[in-house]
Amino acid sequence: MRQQTWGIWALGGTIALLALLPVPEFWITQLNYIGLSAMAVLGLVLLTGIGGLTSFGQAAFVGIGAYTTAWLTVHAGLSPWLTLFIGVGLTAVSAVILGWLTLRMSGHYLPLATLAWGLSLYYTMGNLDALGKYDGLLGVPGLSLLGWQLGQGRVFFVLTWGMVLLSAAGLLRLLDSRVGRAMRALKNGSQMAESMGIDTLRFKIGIFVLSAMLASVSGWLYAHFQRAVNPSPFSVHVGIEYLFMAVLGGAGHVWGAVVGATVTKLLADQLQVLLPRLLGSSGSFEIIVFGVLLVLTLKYAPEGIWAFVDRLLPKTPRPVDWQHAAALAQRPKPGVGEVVLQARDLRKTFGGLVAVNAINFEVRAGQIVGLIGPNGAGKSTTFNLITGVLPLSSGQVSFCGEDITNLPSREIAKCGISRTFQHVKMIADMTVLENVALGAHLRGQRGTASAMLRLDRHEEQSLLREAELQLRRVGMGDYLHELAGNLAMGPQRLLEIARALCGDPVLLLLDEPAAGLRHKEKQALIGVLRQLKAQGLSILLVEHDMDLVMDISDRIVVMEFGTRLIEGTPEEIQASPAVRAAYLGTEH
Ligand code: ADP
Ligand code: MG
Repeated sequence: MRQQTWGIWALGGTIALLALLPVPEFWITQLNYIGLSAMAVLGLVLLTGIGGLTSFGQAAFVGIGAYTTAWLTVHAGLSPWLTLFIGVGLTAVSAVILGWLTLRMSGHYLPLATLAWGLSLYYTMGNLDALGKYDGLLGVPGLSLLGWQLGQGRVFFVLTWGMVLLSAAGLLRLLDSRVGRAMRALKNGSQMAESMGIDTLRFKIGIFVLSAMLASVSGWLYAHFQRAVNPSPFSVHVGIEYLFMAVLGGAGHVWGAVVGATVTKLLADQLQVLLPRLLGSSGSFEIIVFGVLLVLTLKYAPEGIWAFVDRLLPKTPRPVDWQHAAALAQRPKPGVGEVVLQARDLRKTFGGLVAVNAINFEVRAGQIVGLIGPNGAGKSTTFNLITGVLPLSSGQVSFCGEDITNLPSREIAKCGISRTFQHVKMIADMTVLENVALGAHLRGQRGTASAMLRLDRHEEQSLLREAELQLRRVGMGDYLHELAGNLAMGPQRLLEIARALCGDPVLLLLDEPAAGLRHKEKQALIGVLRQLKAQGLSILLVEHDMDLVMDISDRIVVMEFGTRLIEGTPEEIQASPAVRAAYLGTEH
């Protein structure tokens, strides 16, 4: 975190220095163009690098900002400071509509939709009489403040880069918050995030809108810098250039936007002069070089230039400032022995395959119920039916007396059911602490604005305190600041349990928590599960390790071919000839 503060000071210092030093006007103008691009690329970093969503339409949003202010200042005589807000508002509305229509679809729909959007907006700008067709709008006033013209030189430079700095600082703060963690979780698919209670569609639309708003601000600055607008700087071609800058600079880092915009612009300038001279004829040869460069970057440095710089910078772990934070409120828990979960006649078919059929069982408070059976018996599917990942074909699930059948998984998480995954799902480039804090998402409510303004710190401290508490509870207290991607399988599984515990669950669903663990790690896991049970938690456990299941379960449900073979105590299960047949028949 300290490293981020350094970045902000370093950029701020550089801006001040460049403004005060006798830098030639030519370079100030170049830097202004770089700043305008960096602004738009910051949005792409958030969208593409952080959120994993690709957009070719960033330039179109720049265009909305530019055309709105140009038209309103030229034809309606409004103040540019007013049209900034109108332009950003208009951009946000169009981004919400476009995002709402396309972001619920997975795969390539968003890139395609933004491509179509970019093209249609470009031709709209170019063909509307009111917008001056391809000649655009001329005579856009420059910016002035209290009658003082800001011009196109040093003052404009400070304004542009000041806005870049503010936006970068805002994004860095955002990413280091409850909302930011949710946004960073989007890249890895929606299943885990939804299970933590995160409304992934809402957050996707959120970053799409935020990203478009940054583009719009860039467009506003551009219009008053150029004093004119025409469609060409807002074409899909430029949208692709922005993507190139993000990838080259490092789409996963806020500073990648600044580095990418700077390097691309400076390189383009040099190549435009150098290449024609070298080749002895004129042409846009630099575009060919950029094409090759993009392919090479994607192949050899997919994380961009900033990733190399980032590796050289000293890493200071986030200072622990949450020891005295207020504890999070806990939900009321049922008394030991009360029925917590009731599954009635669960049935799930995939086409002709009946994966789960007539499954009945219940889990009581403070009980560990094991769900076992050979591979393909339908255990994970049963889990997914209970947690709302899959819709039931028929049957009913009730939880603490309430019908939760077919609720979406984030609603089920709200009720107090937390889960882990058979294949660990964590965010590799987030620390263990941040990953676990994701599990406490529903226990906070601070949003984007308060994160950017740092009004969320009390809540943030409480969330991190809870994350640390749960990590200590599962014996992971030494790993807080480790990157999750560096963990071995055992700690990864404990991370998932701590994350699930952060949701303050009544019922914990563990899907093969011992898979891939070494003997010692298994012993540690058994200790953790025993202790959780002693603290009154109910656990539904899918596990292949028979010793472990027999050791800690109160009751066991055995599934075979999607149906319930038998239910009983571990002793009854061990004595059952049917179970022996099922296991010996399939596993030996
Ligand atoms: P288990 O966890 O007990 O090993 P699963 O619940 O994963 O078993 O799978 C039960 C059966 O359902 C298997 O035959 C599996 O191939 C099938 N199955 C699971 N998920 C799907 C799916 N999404 N589409 C089609 N078939 C599936
Ligand atoms: Mg399974």
